[in-house]
Parts: sequence; C-alpha cells; structure tokens
Amino acid sequence: MKILVLNCGSSSIKFQLIETNAEMMDSNTDRTLARGSIDRIGTNEATLKVTVPPAPTRTTTEEILDYQAALNRAVEMLKECRAVGDISNIEAVGHRVVHGGEHFAASVVIDGKVEEDIQKCAELAPLHNPHNLRGYYVARKLMPKVPQVAVFDTAFHQSVPPRAYIYGLPYSYYRRYHIRRYGFHGTSHRYVAYRFGKILGKVREDVNLITAHLGNGCSITAIQKGQSIDTSMGFTPQEGLLMGTRCGDIDPAALLYIMSKDKLTLHEMSTLLNKNCGLYGISGESNDMRDLLAASARGDEQAKLAIEVFCYRIKKYIGAYSAALGHVDGVVFTGGIGENAPDVRALACEGLGELGIQIDAARNAAVTGKEGEISSDGSRVRVMAIPTNEELLIARDTFRAVREKNGTRDTGYGK
Ligand code: ADP
Repeated sequence: MKILVLNCGSSSIKFQLIETNAEMMDSNTDRTLARGSIDRIGTNEATLKVTVPPAPTRTTTEEILDYQAALNRAVEMLKECRAVGDISNIEAVGHRVVHGGEHFAASVVIDGKVEEDIQKCAELAPLHNPHNLRGYYVARKLMPKVPQVAVFDTAFHQSVPPRAYIYGLPYSYYRRYHIRRYGFHGTSHRYVAYRFGKILGKVREDVNLITAHLGNGCSITAIQKGQSIDTSMGFTPQEGLLMGTRCGDIDPAALLYIMSKDKLTLHEMSTLLNKNCGLYGISGESNDMRDLLAASARGDEQAKLAIEVFCYRIKKYIGAYSAALGHVDGVVFTGGIGENAPDVRALACEGLGELGIQIDAARNAAVTGKEGEISSDGSRVRVMAIPTNEELLIARDTFRAVREKNGTRDTGYGK
C-alpha cells in the first residue's frame, strides 16, 4: 500500500510517500519512495523540496498562498518526480496529530466523530492540532475517497497509570480542565522500543526499556513490557528533560517570581519558556548541541555547563525510571542528539554501574547515525543508539488502521 504521510505545521508541510504492507513490515523492507517539505506557505517565496532516492533533491521557490495549494503542489511534484504515476496510486494518508488527549490510545481512521474529538483536543495543543486538522481537510478535498488515519504523539502514553499522570494540584483542575500529564513523542519511543526488540530477537512482553528521545525537544520514557508507564513530558512538552530552548522541570514558583520581578505578561512568559530557555538559555549562544560541544571543547564554560545540566537531567531520569520499572533490560538513545552525540550518551550514563549500565567507549564512539550497541560486554543493561523513524511508524499504523477498518484483523506486524 502506498501511503502519504503528512506532518502539518503552522506554515509548513513535511511529507513522505512510503510503501508498506504486512510482509514488508515483518521483514523491515518498507520503502520510502519520496520525502519532501514545503516551508513558508502563504508567501510568494515558499520553498518546495522533494527527494526521490537515489536522485538528488529538487528544490523550487514559488508562490504558494494556502494549504490546499501546498498539498496540490506536493502531489504534483511527486508525479513529476515519478514517485507516483497518478494521484490514485496513493491508497491512504497518515497524519501526525500532536494531541489526542484522553480520547485516543491508538491510531484511528478519521471519521466525523474522530474529527470532532481532535478538535476538542485543540484547546490542549493550540499551536499544533489546528494545523494537523487543516492537513486533514485539504487532503480530504484532494483525495475524497482515500482513507485518512490520525497517529497521535500522545497515544502511546495513555497506558501511564494515574499515580504517574496526576499532578499535585486540586483534583478539580483535572476534572474541569483535563490538567494531567499526557506525554509526547510517543511514536518515536514506540518505534525505537520495537526496533530494540527486533534487533535482540525479543518480544516486547519480555523487555523493560528506558528510551531517551533527544532532539530539539527531548523526552524520556519508561516502557514496561511494551507499554509506557511513565514519561517526562507532561501537560505540555515543557516538562522533563532540558531541551534546545525549553527548560524542562522547574519550580513553578520561580516562574511566578520572574513574572512579578520583570512584569512579564503571560504571552512574554510563554515566549521565554518556548524560545529562550534550555541549552540556548544556559549557554547564551546556541540551542544546537553540535555548537555547544565544539564551544565546550574550546573551553567555553557556559557551553560546558549547559551540556552538564542536559546530561545530568537524563541521568536522574534513568535512575528514577529504573526504580519505576524495577528491572531494566535496555536503554535506548534516539533523536538528533541521541543518535549522533557519543559524548552526551557517555556523560548521561556515567557512574550508573550500580544500575547495571556500563558504556563501552570504543563502541559508543563508533555508533553515530546508525543502529548499534554502545554498552560493554559486562553491562547487565543493553544500551543502544537507534535512529528514530516516526514517519515509518505513521505509515505502518495507517496501513493497520485501514485494514482493521476493512475487517482484517491486526496481525501485530511491525509494532
Ligand atoms: P527535531 O526534534 O527538530 O526533530 P532532531 O531530532 O533533528 O530535532 O535533533 C536536533 C538536535 O540534534 C540538535 O540539537 C542538533 O545539534 C543535534 N545533532 C544533530 N547532529 C548532531 C551531531 N552530529 N552531534 C551532536 N548533536 C547533533
């Protein structure tokens, strides 16, 4: 089945065309036929990029004034590049949807009720869900007969028990406003947990994992027998680990103090929390881990401190989740930093021998941008770096959801 995977933001669409089916999932031979993006939608300088391997990326700059025009152009480009012969070759569309609230614990084919529930969740993710829905509307208009599936960032964490998701606020806030921890990056945590099992030939019911997704946004999850039982992001993606420009865990009273001292409005505080904190805030120079590692190597103390705070927070969560899980079989690093920064992985795992975690320096240094084990032979816990592939999981979920809707029982392939 050829599936168009869409990730729609406020002025951009990222897309991939992926071919998958039960056999391809099982043998991990699903094919990415094309990938691309359109940025700056709504301007006369929108940038459209399409890569159809092995050909080089085609880039054009043109006027694309709205979302409908953007998707039409993307599909046209897929045809021009011969990734699809005709639009009718696209058999399903999979949408990344950021927030599924408590409505969705799995991916679903979108119908009227699902659309309504995604709209309800928009209040919880006002910066994301409306754009994800807009992607659905334009795709429906372009391909009215093609099934469309929503894959939620939050769904994987719906198995987290109340003791881990309830905040110490008056309970009425949970009832009235649904204030609780939801967690995000679920598709990524699920994907690397699945790969860990595949690589080591284990079924998911037999493994307890801690998965660390370290990209611009960062989160870490405790997975017990394939189910998320705790995760570091909360009501919003602000909670938990230090991130590129977000501070993660913080005393909430410190925010009130800053607001009162600097007379900040809610909007100003929100901007500060989203754009000016984290690695960028501490270093005062960059949210990019590559820059900070280079600066630290040159002796820049602020960059060094930012990296230390970043790694220490990860280490603390590994300790906490070891306690939550009771027994840990593996730790997985993923995301741009987790996949490519051996120094960060080493520092985050330093001194965890008592928890059965020992990194092998040479193995760690050798694994960048690919799957590989980085723990030593004597390490009780297997530590791995595994590149994430959220689009692939969205495509696989889309295939499964469509088949189930058509009455074919889910075989569990590739989960
Ligand atoms: P996003 O969350 O936007 O998908 P990514 O997963 O691509 O982000 O991760 C972006 C982060 O990965 C940036 O901080 C970047 O510095 C970091 N990164 C990418 N490549 C490397 C590398 N070779 N070494 C260290 N950090 C890297």
